[in-house]
Amino acid sequence: TSPVHDDVRLSVRIVPFGNHERLLAARDISYLYRIEQMRRDFVANVSHELRTPLTVLMGYLETFVDMEEEFPPPLQRSLSHMQGQATRMQGIIEDLLMLSRLDGEGPHASEQSAVAIPGLVSALREDAQALSAGGHKIDAEIDETLWLRGDAKELHSAFANLVSNAVRYTPQGGKIVLRWTSDGAGATFEVRDSGIGIDPEHIPRLTERFYRVNKDRSRDTGGTGLGLAIVKHVMQRHGARLIIRSKPGEGSVFVCLFPPARVVRKTQEVQTAST
Ligand code: ADP
Repeated sequence: TSPVHDDVRLSVRIVPFGNHERLLAARDISYLYRIEQMRRDFVANVSHELRTPLTVLMGYLETFVDMEEEFPPPLQRSLSHMQGQATRMQGIIEDLLMLSRLDGEGPHASEQSAVAIPGLVSALREDAQALSAGGHKIDAEIDETLWLRGDAKELHSAFANLVSNAVRYTPQGGKIVLRWTSDGAGATFEVRDSGIGIDPEHIPRLTERFYRVNKDRSRDTGGTGLGLAIVKHVMQRHGARLIIRSKPGEGSVFVCLFPPARVVRKTQEVQTAST
């Protein structure tokens, strides 16, 4: 697809025609492009508009929760349920806004600074421990000299989604390993869990928005169904690939492969000075 004019999009293909000739086929897809843009704007605007009233509601709810001793027990339970659902809605809105942003901007819009991934991965390990509340064994293997050129916020969001999935889809007592390593050329962020695993038929669809293997279970585990869609977009914007391997009942591995051009090597001294 090439922008010919601001409003015109053409899809151009070269197809074989006879034995030696080729046909240049151009199709006007401006209307598809406009519909896609309207969809994007609509989602972004609705998400944005929902944010403020929800924040107000959550503020009031918090006040009620603070005075909960004054309410009868059934009402106290309802209050905590309402707060949980409001927090979930807030997560969905934030994820939708993030996806609209990732969708709407080209890769050039990402920040391109050297990001201290070793510190980020250690922090994520601590977050995972807090989320797991001691229920899992969480290890990390981190190459301390390995940084990445990219957008710190986006990378944080993508990696955090993979780590929180590992905790949420691994039963208590399971094991989770985070690895930030280099194979000599590119860099690899890997999250391995010994959790419930995923049937092979679902794997190609996991990065679609709102796609979930088991809707009820995912809702129970507090997910939004948007996490892996965010991961996919962030990887695309960093020229990286996401590889998913899994066996039902044994666990899953999510691997993010970054190309050598993204890798920044820091000496230990530089790293200490800048952290
Ligand atoms: P959710 O918010 O529902 O977790 P995601 O986009 O992060 O949404 O993931 C999509 C679906 O992929 C999940 O609903 C779950 O079924 C499956 N999934 C993701 N990560 C894992 C994992 N580590 N182990 C098992 N299933 C997973």
